[in-house]
Amino acid sequence: MEIIHISAECYPAAKVGGLADVVGSLPKYQTLMGHQSTVIMPFYHGKFSRENEFSNIFSGVARLGHANFAFNVLKFQKNQLGYELYLFDIPGLFDRENVYSYKDDTERFITFQIAVLNWLKERKETPDVVHCHDQQTGFIPFLMSKVREYQRFEHVPTVFTIHNGQYQGQFGFEKLYYLPPFHSYYNGLIEWHNLINPLASAIKCAWKVTTVSPSYLDEISHSMNGMEDLLRTERGKSLGILNGIDADVWNPETDPMLEKNFNTKTFEEGKKANKEMLCTQFGLDPNKPLFTFIGRLVGEKGADILPGIIYDVLHYKPGEQNILILGSGEKHIEHALLHLEDQFKGNYCSYIGYNEKLSHLIYAGADFLLMPSRVEPCGLNQMYALRYGTIPVVRRTGGLRDTVTDIGDHGFGVCHDQCTISDVTHAIHRAKHICREKRTFKRIRKQIMEIDHSWNRAALEYIELYQSLKL
Ligand code: ADP
Repeated sequence: MEIIHISAECYPAAKVGGLADVVGSLPKYQTLMGHQSTVIMPFYHGKFSRENEFSNIFSGVARLGHANFAFNVLKFQKNQLGYELYLFDIPGLFDRENVYSYKDDTERFITFQIAVLNWLKERKETPDVVHCHDQQTGFIPFLMSKVREYQRFEHVPTVFTIHNGQYQGQFGFEKLYYLPPFHSYYNGLIEWHNLINPLASAIKCAWKVTTVSPSYLDEISHSMNGMEDLLRTERGKSLGILNGIDADVWNPETDPMLEKNFNTKTFEEGKKANKEMLCTQFGLDPNKPLFTFIGRLVGEKGADILPGIIYDVLHYKPGEQNILILGSGEKHIEHALLHLEDQFKGNYCSYIGYNEKLSHLIYAGADFLLMPSRVEPCGLNQMYALRYGTIPVVRRTGGLRDTVTDIGDHGFGVCHDQCTISDVTHAIHRAKHICREKRTFKRIRKQIMEIDHSWNRAALEYIELYQSLKL
């Protein structure tokens, strides 16, 4: 089966969050299962494009309203990824360092989607399925089925995965002319609440809609910024498939980013060495339980309550634990986190920024990983933490609910219900209790490292889904 994934992110070419990890690993597992899996994404002018070689395999033009954008399709040469990677170089729109957050993101991603279809229609082969990820690729199912220019793809099944429903990409009808011409009869298929909305369009037009965990599908059917009704209407064609992790990249036994590698037999010494390395780097005491957080510093992740948690835990229980934060995002959260460093020197530190290597070291060296998320479509961090023997302390929501069971329910994590300072500090106190019971602590760390969250299961679920769409 030929499967084409279209996405704004793909690790290692460009990563902002979990979308990149998923699109960078699911296709590899699909290839291993005997399918031909391909990823298409924009060519950003970041580190990856500077440090690698590409061959130009196609040049074309994408029309956005009255403007024409020349584009090149670049094939990644040194391909050890386990799938084909094609990058769309569109000068004027994507020759920039970052993935998102530009004023013209609407123009950038519509042009990208048009360019992709312009190239696909020139190829001899017709894919068996086109799998689109998040709103930046949300118009593809509509364009493939309702625009005459792309009529060739009318019968090609489309799957759309919602990795994060918070971002919908909506804009006003004054920009309708950006899209290639189609019959006005179909206007309803791109509209939601009087705006053009690529996320809504994908939910309406894709043959199947998936979310990255079953619980997230239930949650967004009740609360998703006004789109709940649509999700309920389309529920019949929707299903939640829990993400997997790339068990080769995220393997404590071979991970080159660690100070010391370890497995289920050697985890005690291994985790200790990584913890010591971290504590030396950040001026913390390696003999105290280490609580950590990794992620985008935004309300969705509950990052706004981190400063309050740090203050309460370290002020009222000084010297009992250390806290280390890695993240970047909203400035007021970054400032608040940095501000606390002087006050709790020796017990708390934060690294503001994005650092892949440090994240690996934290998963390996930490005792606990905090995830107080308000919304968590799947969450990969807790699965990486589990694989590296770090106990997750999570709010019961979305994918966290599907992957972490509380120790009180014969599980292995610490769960709480609310995204509040008091719920999280209480969870931290429960976690410290586990840490004190050395035998339980050791047993749980071994147990969580043995859980298989690799893509084997989920990749198969996606293949079964594609096969169910065969005409
Ligand atoms: P989301 O996609 O909502 O941000 P996920 O849990 O799905 O959240 O994925 C987050 C991914 O991004 C993980 O691989 C995590 O390790 C990584 N990550 C987030 N922030 C940082 C950071 N500041 N430095 C390094 N890695 C980070």
